[in-house]
Amino acid sequence: MSNDRAATALPLIACRECDLLQHEIALPPHAEALCLRCGAQLYRQTLHGPDTTLAFTLASVLLFLLANFFPLVRLELQGNQTTSTLFGAVTTLASQDLLSVALLVFSTTIVVPAIEMAAMLYLLLPRRLGVTVPGRALTFRLIELLRPWGMIEVFMLGVLVSVVKMATFSSVVPGVALWSFGALMLTLAAAAHFFNPRDLWQKMAIHD
Ligand SMILES: [Zn+2]
Repeated sequence: MSNDRAATALPLIACRECDLLQHEIALPPHAEALCLRCGAQLYRQTLHGPDTTLAFTLASVLLFLLANFFPLVRLELQGNQTTSTLFGAVTTLASQDLLSVALLVFSTTIVVPAIEMAAMLYLLLPRRLGVTVPGRALTFRLIELLRPWGMIEVFMLGVLVSVVKMATFSSVVPGVALWSFGALMLTLAAAAHFFNPRDLWQKMAIHD
């Protein structure tokens, strides 16, 4: 009877995959709680999650700026040299009647990653500085909503395939932006891995 009472005092959590309601328990660092029925991850405990995410997000912002303001590749054909930035590639696509492709590249490789990084900084920087900012729940939802639409890795794959194909008939020199994009892919993946909304939300609630 007393065990039942203790169990009912624990908060309930629903599995996001199968909706099974389970009691939430405290976890040791780096451990994860799995659903009893389907084995999906319910939540995990990270030790320095918000600070590690902030470090990777700041690194991503720097790499994103390099990736946008420096040339992606330099082409040399019959003595002529030409370079292109990411935005230059978007405007070229738009000028060649490929407006839908240009919009897709612009939104998935520039707009969405920029908003996602700004949203992460909006949550993580004030928390680090001990400041409370409005609209945090909305920002959490925005990050969840945007994440599937950031497709830097797809773009990177497309660029690499093009570079290999172009290398057969012209000299192709990878630019600073191409290396930055490669590194950005890794830092964004690391930031997403360490970003633990549940943990962050609880830490924010404690400081409010
Ligand atoms: Zn489940």
